[in-house]
Amino acid sequence: MPQNAPRLEIRNLTRTFEGKTVVDDVSLSILPGHVTCLLGPSGCGKSTTLRMIAGVDMQSTGEIYVDGKLVCDTIFRVPPERRSIGLMFQDFALFPHLSVAQNVAFGLKGDKSENRERVEQLLDRVGLLHYIDAFPHELSGGEQQRVALARALAPRPRVMLMDEPFSGLDNRLRDGIRDETLSLLKEEGTSVLLVTHEPEEAMRMADEIALMRDGRIVQRGAPYNIYNAPADKAAVAFFSDIN
Ligand code: ADP
Ligand code: MG
Repeated sequence: MPQNAPRLEIRNLTRTFEGKTVVDDVSLSILPGHVTCLLGPSGCGKSTTLRMIAGVDMQSTGEIYVDGKLVCDTIFRVPPERRSIGLMFQDFALFPHLSVAQNVAFGLKGDKSENRERVEQLLDRVGLLHYIDAFPHELSGGEQQRVALARALAPRPRVMLMDEPFSGLDNRLRDGIRDETLSLLKEEGTSVLLVTHEPEEAMRMADEIALMRDGRIVQRGAPYNIYNAPADKAAVAFFSDIN
Protein backbone atom coordinates (compact mmCIF):
# COMPACT_ATOMS: atom_id res chain seq x y z
CA MET A 1 0.00 0.00 0.00
CA PRO A 2 1.35 3.49 -0.78
CA GLN A 3 2.60 5.26 2.32
CA ASN A 4 0.11 8.06 2.02
CA ALA A 5 -2.90 5.82 1.55
CA PRO A 6 -5.79 6.95 3.74
CA ARG A 7 -6.06 5.44 7.20
CA LEU A 8 -9.81 5.77 7.09
CA GLU A 9 -12.00 5.95 4.07
CA ILE A 10 -15.76 6.01 3.91
CA ARG A 11 -17.60 5.81 0.63
CA ASN A 12 -21.16 6.84 -0.03
CA LEU A 13 -22.36 6.22 3.50
CA THR A 14 -26.10 6.59 3.98
CA ARG A 15 -28.27 5.94 7.03
CA THR A 16 -32.02 5.90 6.97
CA PHE A 17 -34.24 5.69 10.03
CA GLU A 18 -37.82 4.73 9.22
CA GLY A 19 -37.69 6.27 5.77
CA LYS A 20 -35.90 9.42 6.89
CA THR A 21 -32.37 9.86 5.54
CA VAL A 22 -30.17 11.38 8.25
CA VAL A 23 -26.79 10.63 6.66
CA ASP A 24 -26.91 11.10 2.93
CA ASP A 25 -24.13 9.81 0.66
CA VAL A 26 -21.19 10.88 2.83
CA SER A 27 -17.68 10.15 1.58
CA LEU A 28 -14.50 11.07 3.45
CA SER A 29 -10.90 10.00 3.75
CA ILE A 30 -8.30 10.75 6.38
CA LEU A 31 -4.55 10.61 5.76
CA PRO A 32 -2.11 9.20 8.33
CA GLY A 33 -1.60 11.61 11.22
CA HIS A 34 -4.27 14.03 10.04
CA VAL A 35 -7.15 15.48 12.03
CA THR A 36 -10.37 15.92 10.11
CA CYS A 37 -13.21 17.77 11.81
CA LEU A 38 -16.74 16.89 10.89
CA LEU A 39 -18.35 20.23 11.64
CA GLY A 40 -22.02 21.09 11.54
CA PRO A 41 -25.05 22.16 13.53
CA SER A 42 -26.81 19.91 15.99
CA GLY A 43 -28.93 17.22 14.35
CA CYS A 44 -27.11 17.22 10.98
CA GLY A 45 -26.00 13.58 11.30
CA LYS A 46 -22.47 13.81 12.74
CA SER A 47 -22.87 11.32 15.58
CA THR A 48 -24.73 8.87 13.38
CA THR A 49 -21.81 8.96 10.94
CA LEU A 50 -19.32 8.29 13.73
CA ARG A 51 -21.42 5.48 15.17
CA MET A 52 -21.40 3.68 11.83
CA ILE A 53 -17.62 4.02 11.51
CA ALA A 54 -17.21 2.73 15.07
CA GLY A 55 -19.43 -0.21 14.19
CA VAL A 56 -22.09 0.39 16.82
CA ASP A 57 -24.61 1.30 14.13
CA MET A 58 -24.99 -0.14 10.65
CA GLN A 59 -25.20 1.96 7.51
CA SER A 60 -28.03 1.51 5.04
CA THR A 61 -25.59 1.74 2.12
CA GLY A 62 -21.90 2.46 1.65
CA GLU A 63 -18.53 1.12 2.67
CA ILE A 64 -15.93 1.75 5.37
CA TYR A 65 -12.21 0.99 4.97
CA VAL A 66 -9.39 1.11 7.54
CA ASP A 67 -5.88 1.00 6.01
CA GLY A 68 -7.43 0.08 2.70
CA LYS A 69 -9.19 -2.97 4.14
CA LEU A 70 -12.94 -3.22 4.04
CA VAL A 71 -14.36 -3.29 7.58
CA CYS A 72 -18.00 -2.86 6.69
CA ASP A 73 -20.42 -2.80 3.81
CA THR A 74 -24.05 -3.81 3.71
CA ILE A 75 -23.28 -7.53 4.00
CA PHE A 76 -19.82 -7.82 5.53
CA ARG A 77 -19.09 -6.44 8.98
CA VAL A 78 -15.99 -6.50 11.21
CA PRO A 79 -17.06 -6.14 14.86
CA PRO A 80 -16.21 -2.81 16.58
CA GLU A 81 -13.45 -4.25 18.79
CA ARG A 82 -11.55 -5.55 15.75
CA ARG A 83 -11.54 -2.33 13.70
CA SER A 84 -8.50 -0.74 15.39
CA ILE A 85 -10.59 2.33 16.03
CA GLY A 86 -10.33 4.29 19.29
CA LEU A 87 -13.34 6.09 20.68
CA MET A 88 -13.79 9.17 22.78
CA PHE A 89 -17.41 10.08 23.10
CA GLN A 90 -19.09 12.70 25.22
CA ASP A 91 -20.85 10.07 27.32
CA PHE A 92 -18.04 7.55 27.21
CA ALA A 93 -17.01 7.98 30.83
CA LEU A 94 -14.28 6.22 32.77
CA PHE A 95 -15.21 3.02 34.58
CA PRO A 96 -15.88 4.27 38.12
CA HIS A 97 -14.96 0.99 39.85
CA LEU A 98 -11.57 0.73 38.13
CA SER A 99 -8.41 2.63 39.06
CA VAL A 100 -6.86 5.11 36.66
CA ALA A 101 -4.23 2.48 35.70
CA GLN A 102 -6.91 -0.16 35.11
CA ASN A 103 -8.94 2.26 33.03
CA VAL A 104 -6.01 3.12 30.78
CA ALA A 105 -5.01 -0.55 30.46
CA PHE A 106 -8.57 -1.64 29.68
CA GLY A 107 -8.14 -2.19 25.92
CA LEU A 108 -4.64 -3.68 26.17
CA LYS A 109 -3.90 -7.33 25.57
CA GLY A 110 -0.75 -9.36 26.03
CA ASP A 111 2.37 -8.71 28.04
CA LYS A 112 1.62 -7.22 31.48
CA SER A 113 4.89 -5.37 31.95
CA GLU A 114 4.77 -3.84 28.45
CA ASN A 115 1.20 -2.76 29.14
CA ARG A 116 2.24 -1.20 32.43
CA GLU A 117 4.97 0.72 30.61
CA ARG A 118 2.48 2.01 28.07
CA VAL A 119 0.07 3.08 30.82
CA GLU A 120 2.83 4.90 32.71
CA GLN A 121 4.11 6.54 29.53
CA LEU A 122 0.70 7.94 28.64
CA LEU A 123 -0.19 9.03 32.16
CA ASP A 124 3.16 10.74 32.44
CA ARG A 125 2.54 12.40 29.08
CA VAL A 126 -0.81 13.82 30.23
CA GLY A 127 0.73 14.88 33.56
CA LEU A 128 -1.23 12.45 35.72
CA LEU A 129 1.25 9.76 36.66
CA HIS A 130 0.77 10.63 40.34
CA TYR A 131 -2.89 9.57 40.00
CA ILE A 132 -2.10 6.12 38.64
CA ASP A 133 -3.69 4.34 41.62
CA ALA A 134 -6.50 6.86 42.17
CA PHE A 135 -10.13 6.30 41.21
CA PRO A 136 -12.05 8.45 38.73
CA HIS A 137 -14.15 10.21 41.40
CA GLU A 138 -10.96 11.60 42.94
CA LEU A 139 -10.16 13.47 39.71
CA SER A 140 -11.51 16.73 38.28
CA GLY A 141 -13.46 16.76 35.01
CA GLY A 142 -10.43 17.91 33.04
CA GLU A 143 -8.26 15.23 34.63
CA GLN A 144 -10.83 12.54 33.84
CA GLN A 145 -10.82 13.77 30.27
CA ARG A 146 -7.05 13.33 30.05
CA VAL A 147 -7.31 9.80 31.44
CA ALA A 148 -10.02 9.02 28.88
CA LEU A 149 -7.68 10.24 26.14
CA ALA A 150 -4.87 8.05 27.49
CA ARG A 151 -7.25 5.09 27.62
CA ALA A 152 -8.35 5.60 24.02
CA LEU A 153 -4.76 5.94 22.77
CA ALA A 154 -3.26 3.07 24.80
CA PRO A 155 -3.89 0.30 22.22
CA ARG A 156 -2.45 2.52 19.44
CA PRO A 157 -5.61 2.66 17.36
CA ARG A 158 -5.16 3.35 13.64
CA VAL A 159 -7.99 5.84 13.78
CA MET A 160 -9.51 7.81 16.62
CA LEU A 161 -13.11 8.94 16.61
CA MET A 162 -13.99 11.81 18.93
CA ASP A 163 -17.56 13.01 19.36
CA GLU A 164 -17.71 16.48 20.93
CA PRO A 165 -15.11 15.32 23.46
CA PHE A 166 -14.67 18.72 25.11
CA SER A 167 -18.26 19.85 25.34
CA GLY A 168 -18.68 18.76 28.96
CA LEU A 169 -15.76 20.91 30.08
CA ASP A 170 -15.65 24.29 31.65
CA ASN A 171 -14.88 27.13 29.20
CA ARG A 172 -11.77 28.05 31.16
CA LEU A 173 -10.25 24.59 30.70
CA ARG A 174 -11.36 23.88 27.19
CA ASP A 175 -8.71 25.67 25.12
CA GLY A 176 -5.86 24.21 27.14
CA ILE A 177 -7.18 20.67 26.88
CA ARG A 178 -7.82 21.07 23.15
CA ASP A 179 -4.21 22.10 22.60
CA GLU A 180 -2.79 19.36 24.82
CA THR A 181 -4.98 16.75 23.16
CA LEU A 182 -3.93 17.87 19.71
CA SER A 183 -0.23 17.75 20.51
CA LEU A 184 -0.54 14.24 21.98
CA LEU A 185 -2.51 13.03 18.96
CA LYS A 186 0.16 14.44 16.66
CA GLU A 187 2.96 12.84 18.68
CA GLU A 188 1.23 9.47 18.48
CA GLY A 189 0.59 9.93 14.76
CA THR A 190 -3.07 9.05 15.17
CA SER A 191 -5.53 9.81 12.39
CA VAL A 192 -8.55 11.50 13.88
CA LEU A 193 -12.13 12.20 12.93
CA LEU A 194 -13.38 14.76 15.41
CA VAL A 195 -17.02 15.77 15.50
CA THR A 196 -17.96 19.22 16.69
CA HIS A 197 -20.69 21.82 16.27
CA GLU A 198 -18.26 24.61 17.20
CA PRO A 199 -16.48 26.30 14.27
CA GLU A 200 -13.85 27.63 16.66
CA GLU A 201 -12.90 24.12 17.76
CA ALA A 202 -12.60 22.93 14.18
CA MET A 203 -10.49 25.96 13.24
CA ARG A 204 -8.18 25.23 16.15
CA MET A 205 -7.76 21.51 15.69
CA ALA A 206 -8.37 20.48 12.10
CA ASP A 207 -6.00 19.81 9.22
CA GLU A 208 -9.17 19.51 7.20
CA ILE A 209 -12.76 20.48 7.84
CA ALA A 210 -15.74 18.64 6.39
CA LEU A 211 -18.74 20.90 6.73
CA MET A 212 -21.96 18.97 7.19
CA ARG A 213 -25.56 20.03 6.86
CA ASP A 214 -28.78 18.03 6.68
CA GLY A 215 -26.91 14.76 6.40
CA ARG A 216 -24.60 15.86 3.59
CA ILE A 217 -21.06 17.15 3.35
CA VAL A 218 -21.42 20.54 1.72
CA GLN A 219 -17.77 21.63 1.72
CA ARG A 220 -14.35 20.17 2.44
CA GLY A 221 -11.01 21.88 2.78
CA ALA A 222 -8.30 23.43 4.91
CA PRO A 223 -9.77 25.44 7.82
CA TYR A 224 -8.77 28.88 6.53
CA ASN A 225 -9.95 28.16 3.03
CA ILE A 226 -13.37 27.25 4.34
CA TYR A 227 -13.43 30.17 6.75
CA ASN A 228 -12.39 32.63 4.04
CA ALA A 229 -14.60 31.21 1.32
CA PRO A 230 -17.63 29.46 2.78
CA ALA A 231 -19.60 27.55 0.15
CA ASP A 232 -22.91 29.34 0.60
CA LYS A 233 -24.93 31.71 2.79
CA ALA A 234 -25.74 29.06 5.35
CA ALA A 235 -22.03 28.32 5.77
CA VAL A 236 -21.29 32.05 6.18
CA ALA A 237 -23.95 32.28 8.89
CA PHE A 238 -22.61 29.20 10.61
CA PHE A 239 -19.08 30.65 10.78
CA SER A 240 -20.19 34.11 11.80
CA ASP A 241 -20.07 33.17 15.49
CA ILE A 242 -16.28 33.17 15.47
CA ASN A 243 -14.62 36.41 16.37
P1 ADP B 1 -25.67 15.33 15.39
O1 ADP B 1 -24.69 14.43 16.05
O2 ADP B 1 -25.12 16.06 14.20
O3 ADP B 1 -26.28 16.30 16.35
P2 ADP B 1 -27.24 12.91 15.02
O4 ADP B 1 -26.42 12.06 14.15
O5 ADP B 1 -27.24 12.59 16.47
O6 ADP B 1 -26.87 14.46 14.80
O7 ADP B 1 -28.75 12.86 14.54
C1 ADP B 1 -29.14 13.16 13.20
C2 ADP B 1 -30.61 12.90 13.03
O8 ADP B 1 -30.86 11.51 13.11
C3 ADP B 1 -31.47 13.56 14.09
O9 ADP B 1 -32.62 14.07 13.45
C4 ADP B 1 -31.81 12.42 15.01
O10 ADP B 1 -33.05 12.63 15.62
C5 ADP B 1 -31.86 11.24 14.07
N1 ADP B 1 -31.54 9.96 14.72
C6 ADP B 1 -30.36 9.64 15.29
N2 ADP B 1 -30.40 8.39 15.79
C7 ADP B 1 -31.64 7.90 15.54
C8 ADP B 1 -32.32 6.65 15.80
N3 ADP B 1 -31.70 5.66 16.43
N4 ADP B 1 -33.60 6.53 15.38
C9 ADP B 1 -34.22 7.55 14.71
N5 ADP B 1 -33.65 8.74 14.43
C10 ADP B 1 -32.37 8.92 14.84
MG1 MG C 1 -24.04 14.44 18.05
